[in-house]
Formats: sequence, C-alpha cells, structure tokens
Amino acid sequence: MRRKVQHSDKIRVLSELAASFAHEIRNPMTVARGFMQIMKQTDLPDEKRQIYSQMVLEEMDKTQAIINDYLSFARPTLEAVELLDARALILRAVQSVQTFAELRLVKIETQLEEKLIISANADKFIQCIVNLCKNGIEAMPGGGKLQVVAGLQNQTVCIDIIDQGIGMTNEEIKRLGTPFYSTRGKGTGLGMMVTYRVIQNIQGRIDVTSEVGKGTCFSILIPTIHSNAYH
Ligand code: ADP
Ligand code: MG
Repeated sequence: MRRKVQHSDKIRVLSELAASFAHEIRNPMTVARGFMQIMKQTDLPDEKRQIYSQMVLEEMDKTQAIINDYLSFARPTLEAVELLDARALILRAVQSVQTFAELRLVKIETQLEEKLIISANADKFIQCIVNLCKNGIEAMPGGGKLQVVAGLQNQTVCIDIIDQGIGMTNEEIKRLGTPFYSTRGKGTGLGMMVTYRVIQNIQGRIDVTSEVGKGTCFSILIPTIHSNAYH
C-alpha cells in the first residue's frame, strides 16, 4: 500500500522557513568573513592566525549543519508511505547513533515489542528517532543512560525515548519545534521541527514530560495498522 503525503502544507512551511533560513546562514558567514579579513594582515602573529582560522572553521561547520538539517526537511524525496515494522526502524536508528552515544559515555538500552506496524516513510521515521535520541544524548553532558521503549497500547504504537539529562522548563517545552530554537552552541534548532512535522503527517503526536535536572521523556504515539494488512 502506497500513498502520497499532502504537499501544500509543506510548501507553505518551506517558504516561511526560507526567510529565517537565510538569516541563520548569514550570521555565521558574516562572522567568518570578518575573521578572514583580519587574517589577511601580513603582520598577524601566528598564534592569533591559528585562533582565527579555528573560529572560521567553527562558523563554517555551523553553516553546514544548518544546511544539512534544512535539506533533510526540504529534500524532494519520493515521500512514499508504506506499512512498516517500527521495531526494525527503531533498531536501525539506534544503530546509527551508537558511536555518537559511546563517544559521550551514553549507554542506549532498548526494549521493543515485535510487530509494531505503522504507516510511514521509512527514512523520515528513522530520522525522527535519530533526532530524539541525539537530543537525549546531548542532554547528558556527563554521560548516562538513554532508554528506547516501544510497545502497543490501545491500537497505538507508543515509542518512549527517555534520558537522564538536564531536562526542560515548561517554557522551554513550549518552544520545542520552533524553527531555529536551540540552546546549544552547535545546535540548529531544526531537529524538533522536522520531527514534529513528520509524526504529524502520519497522524501521530508527540508528548513531552520533563523535569529540570532529572531528565526528559519524549513519547511518540502513532495509530497502528492491523498486522494482517502487512506483508
Ligand atoms: P538542536 O538539537 O539543533 O539544538 P532541536 O530542534 O533538536 O535543535 O532541539 C531544540 C532545543 O530543544 C535544544 O537546543 C534543547 O534546548 C531542547 N531539547 C531538545 N531535546 C531535549 C532533551 N532531551 N533534553 C533537554 N533539552 C532538549
Ligand atoms: Mg537536535
């Protein structure tokens, strides 16, 4: 079974985003340009040249991260929606953030029921799980445990992504999903926006519970499809 997701909504969001996108790109470019100009001076001490070139590189990385995240939303993929086993997709997502987690001393624990059939686009769904896992990992600067739990409750596939990180206030929770809202130096603030949209498009929703200093639980809730329709 395949069907196309509505596109008009996406086009509206894309054009709204384009303006703020240009602005977000312009900032790091202006900073990088400024440093490059200083570096043109021939009498600049080597030590300072090192510092400035490092700063230019960081601004370039920031620009690249914004472009990548924007493209993951805007890329014109064939948005085919298929019947899929959420468990397999979650495992693939977890696998792809494994190194990212290990480097930050985070252990990922999974507890996933079998046969969680959802109607979704595989790549986009994996992207959502990756985004939420990465956020959970980044919320634990000293390392910790990230739990990914999935099961079926009342015809709904429930996926919980639970961290033991810094948590969020109610005001911070309200701002989630706003384009470019980020409290992280290297953040783009596009991950949650993409995640909310993708889950909305498959008739799902995301609940957030969080306590400052304790951690956060993101729950993705998606209506299931009867497994006899799945091959
Ligand atoms: P980014 O990760 O690039 O900053 P996101 O859209 O993924 O952008 O997240 C936006 C902001 O939401 C983050 O900068 C952070 O402040 C907050 N946030 C998201 N997930 C969590 C979490 N699990 N714990 C604490 N804060 C979070
Ligand atoms: Mg993020």
